[in-house]
Amino acid sequence: MNPSNVNAGEQGNPPAAGPSNFVRDIILEDLKTNKWGGRVHTRFPPEPNGYLHIGHAKSICLNFGLAAEFGGKTNLRFDDTNPEKEETEYVDSIMENVRWLGFDWEDRCFYASDYFGQLYEWAVQMIKSGNAYVCDLSAEEVRQYRGTLTEPGKESPYRDRSVPENLDLFERMKAGEFPDGSRTLRAKVDMASANLNMRDPVMYRILHAEHHRTGDKWCIYPMYDYAHGQSDSIEGITHSICTLEFEDHRPLYDWFCEALGIYHPQQIEFDRLNLTYTLLSKRKLLQLVKDGHVTGWDDPRMPTLAGIRRRGYTPEAIRNFCKSIGVSKTTGTIELGLLEHHLREDLNKRAPRVMAVLRPLRVVIDNYPEGQVDQLDAGNNPEDLSAGTRLVPFSKVLYIEQDDFREDPPKQYFRLSPGREVRLRYGYFITCTSAVKNEKGEVTEIHCTYDPATRGGNAPDGRRVKSTIHWVSAEHAIEAEVRLYDSLFSKPDPNQTEEGQNFLANLNPYSLEVLTDCKLEPSLKDATAYSHYQFERLGYFSVDPDTAPGKLVFNRTVALRDTWAKIEKREKGGR
Ligand code: ATP
Ligand code: MG
Repeated sequence: MNPSNVNAGEQGNPPAAGPSNFVRDIILEDLKTNKWGGRVHTRFPPEPNGYLHIGHAKSICLNFGLAAEFGGKTNLRFDDTNPEKEETEYVDSIMENVRWLGFDWEDRCFYASDYFGQLYEWAVQMIKSGNAYVCDLSAEEVRQYRGTLTEPGKESPYRDRSVPENLDLFERMKAGEFPDGSRTLRAKVDMASANLNMRDPVMYRILHAEHHRTGDKWCIYPMYDYAHGQSDSIEGITHSICTLEFEDHRPLYDWFCEALGIYHPQQIEFDRLNLTYTLLSKRKLLQLVKDGHVTGWDDPRMPTLAGIRRRGYTPEAIRNFCKSIGVSKTTGTIELGLLEHHLREDLNKRAPRVMAVLRPLRVVIDNYPEGQVDQLDAGNNPEDLSAGTRLVPFSKVLYIEQDDFREDPPKQYFRLSPGREVRLRYGYFITCTSAVKNEKGEVTEIHCTYDPATRGGNAPDGRRVKSTIHWVSAEHAIEAEVRLYDSLFSKPDPNQTEEGQNFLANLNPYSLEVLTDCKLEPSLKDATAYSHYQFERLGYFSVDPDTAPGKLVFNRTVALRDTWAKIEKREKGGR
């Protein structure tokens, strides 16, 4: 690639990865100096020990986005070196989620376990070059010998074993002669290093465990630090982009490549995503699933891609969010409201408007002829006139929201109350005449009159009403279950707890409310799973995959009010 041609943004195409950032700047510089022969080759390396979450989306967008921008490639690589925690279910879900987000690894799906043979040969090479030794210290002893940040470590008594003895022991470790934990292969680096990762890190451990791909072929498994850089090297990765907690591992990454004399990619660290009211730790998410605090990895309250997809999030909204947050070298926490803002922006454009009543109150229009049906014209999306219009049936008995009627209205309440006139969306003006109550004194039905001259929502005499409410014709309504969600945790930082408590203490007891008696306009009869709608005045909703013939289930994706847009406007000096 011609380096002067690489900045797609300057050629008039919007850069795929958004505004520039320090990772992109490094790539631009490398292209200028021809460091990698014009190549940009990244990878996304999940460990298949859980479902992907919104934090991973940041990494996916960055890796795939940058490579795409510069005509490069991105590999999907499963970092499957922990046989005890990994499963095929996770592999499958990860592939599905990356595709759903809109990215394609083409024919480059790899597994660290593909390289176990090569990694073993390299370990033998390390022993031969005096860079690795078999150590008989237990895990606990290794920890004690390691020292602390302020004290240097102590050398293992096995550090100076001869090469033949090391080769023999390592071979026998592989052959399964020794029990789990009895020996390790360690890199001979520097027990006095200020960087604890360099104090003779473990390269291989003994683990008699079935691997989801290699079965029982191996009973020694490479550690992350020994496997990762070498996997990058094998695949010819140019920029190995990872999160900041690996910064202290970079010297070791470099050391292994140097000691082996192999192709040496560049590791670059960026800040991981943290979101308010959200946990992004696979271990904790797994606990929520295992202990039944949620219905599964795809529970719509989960921050997993499977969960937010089910909730109704779109790939476009997530990609736009990831662009907007950028990447940096300092860890911070992003407001959940920003993610929701991007979601609303996207849904506003694509979601057809419909009317749905979630908590129905019966309304009888006394002066409307029995049996008559009026088909009223309703626009599908004011943001997209090409979305057209539909007909909504109007009849003598309707449903409105219970909230839209008050027998004793407070001062600022302009919706329906006895004697008050309001507009029915796309319909007529109606005036409330009376309310019917049950023995408990609750309003169960209200009576109104309508003004036939106000069809379409305007009075010929120019009189005005102060509010417009939505409604559904009772005779035509379809029934649905609607699930309303709030954040899964009630604290902005779910990890912030009192003494002796853990994050579970911060679970929001009101994160799910199920409404089973909702009434929808008939155009929603054939709504298909994952499709999006704006229920007028209520928010954005999407069809849950639990929907089956005769049972329509909706999730509230996000409410309408966009506090983020207001904050932004205020910050920009607006009112
Ligand atoms: P967890 O701590 O939740 O287990 P992880 O980092 O161990 O996450 P991996 O499967 O190893 O999960 O992650 C795959 C890639 O995604 C890594 O490159 C990792 O740095 C990146 N990643 C994980 N979490 C985040 C996050 N919150 N923000 C940005 N990138 C992330
Ligand atoms: Mg990890």
